[in-house]
Amino acid sequence: PVTRVRLQGVGHVKVHQHRPVVGKVKTVSVKREGRRWYVILTAEQTAPEPLPQTGSMVGIDMGITNFLADSGGEFVPNPRHGAKAAARLEAAQQALARCKRGSRRRRKAVEVVARLHRKVRRQRLDHAHKTALGLVREHDFIAHEDLRIRNMSKAPAPKPDPATPGSFLPNGAAAKAGLNRSIADAGWGVFLTILTAKAACAGREVMAVDPRNTSRRCPQCGHTAKENRPTQEKFHCVSCGHHAHADTVGALNVLRAGLVRREAQPA
Ligand SMILES: [Zn+2]
Repeated sequence: PVTRVRLQGVGHVKVHQHRPVVGKVKTVSVKREGRRWYVILTAEQTAPEPLPQTGSMVGIDMGITNFLADSGGEFVPNPRHGAKAAARLEAAQQALARCKRGSRRRRKAVEVVARLHRKVRRQRLDHAHKTALGLVREHDFIAHEDLRIRNMSKAPAPKPDPATPGSFLPNGAAAKAGLNRSIADAGWGVFLTILTAKAACAGREVMAVDPRNTSRRCPQCGHTAKENRPTQEKFHCVSCGHHAHADTVGALNVLRAGLVRREAQPA
């Protein structure tokens, strides 16, 4: 919806309101991003009431195919618009890479890339809010992978193009995989930030755990081996024969690691 904001020394300006203002407005600031201007409001809210206990605990495993899998066997798919936007962003970045430095076409291409980045960011935020809200409503305790540890063991990120902020130097398949990866990583980071904030408001407990080995350990018998995971999606224990979706197994192990860590913490 279009609304009006009065800015000191500027007067009334028309703005697109992205989300309703909840609470009493405390500060107003103005920020420029490319050719767009943003009005940022901070508001004071009365302390939210903690949600009633549900007696439920959950572990989550974040992935590319599914945004997340939980220890109860449920999946939150990656939003379709996410993949679509990523493909368009990739095409826009390739077009940008073909433009001559300093040309008019290049300036336009930079604008297109920036616009797509903004769109991805808004959609990601919306999806993250919905997913986090669902988890916080249903569970008292939420364990997730520690992304800082996880990222250390992953493929290198694509190299940013120093001439054009927000775009990447082309390096073939690695750049594509890296770009998908970096978009996903950013999505999880945003999601975990929102999850942690919502959980704090609701009086829920969130625990980050070391993700290493969470995909190899059998939740039935404890046998841990690389061979337990024949494919990306399948888990099949070579010791007891237990089989399940690999991401569900990952989420169960994340929950287990979270509970172990909670036990170890001083009360
Ligand atoms: Zn087993």
